[in-house]
Amino acid sequence: MNIVIFGPNGSGKGTQGAIVQKKFGVPHIETGVIFRQNIANKTDLGKQAKTFIDKGELVPDNITIPMILARLKETDCSKGWLLDGFPRNLAQAEALYEALKKEHIYLDYVIEIVLDRGTSKNRIMGRRLCAQDNNHPNNIYIDAIKPREQQGIIVCRVCGGTLSTRNDDQDEAAIDKRHAIYYDNQTGTMAAVNFFKKKVKVVEVDGSGGVAAVTEELLKKLG
Ligand code: AMP
Repeated sequence: MNIVIFGPNGSGKGTQGAIVQKKFGVPHIETGVIFRQNIANKTDLGKQAKTFIDKGELVPDNITIPMILARLKETDCSKGWLLDGFPRNLAQAEALYEALKKEHIYLDYVIEIVLDRGTSKNRIMGRRLCAQDNNHPNNIYIDAIKPREQQGIIVCRVCGGTLSTRNDDQDEAAIDKRHAIYYDNQTGTMAAVNFFKKKVKVVEVDGSGGVAAVTEELLKKLG
């Protein structure tokens, strides 16, 4: 099962992606997570990527495209994958499509979580990361996933783990830049979504509801 999931930063794409990943039992390949792991491990790739990530810009295609295509060839991906955060522009979409076609690999689902720019921005600024598990959603602005309070500090609502913010989540200028890239339908992520709309049936899901409502609609549409 090969799946690509699209959605602006703040649309709940990561949360829904984790649910889709569980449903189909395929690895969740998140470009942003791979970059952050490389930054934490101080690899060359991480050092190269950091300057762009800190500014809210895309890491150049000549670094990102080979990295992801190589990741999809690792053994845990032999039965499929869920790709999240890639492709992020038209060039990446074309490169992925061509690379898959060459190997006779087909996309089973392309999912688009649809959400307007203003709502997405608020959701990002409220997001909190759990130190224990990247798939534990917490957001101070969304009632359904509000962190718990424990002895005066907020902790992960799922496991009580320590919460933190991502630097790029609190930087409004960087958020605006990321959204400008996402909503750009000329060469940005929406151009990638529209590229796939011409090739395969894209499953569109309204991202404006609560987590459970979005999940319900998504699972219904995935059959
Ligand atoms: P994310 O965790 O998906 O929000 O990604 C964090 C940052 O990693 C982005 O703002 C980009 O700088 C970089 N990044 C993630 N995915 C890609 C991609 N497909 N192409 C280029 N840069 C990316």
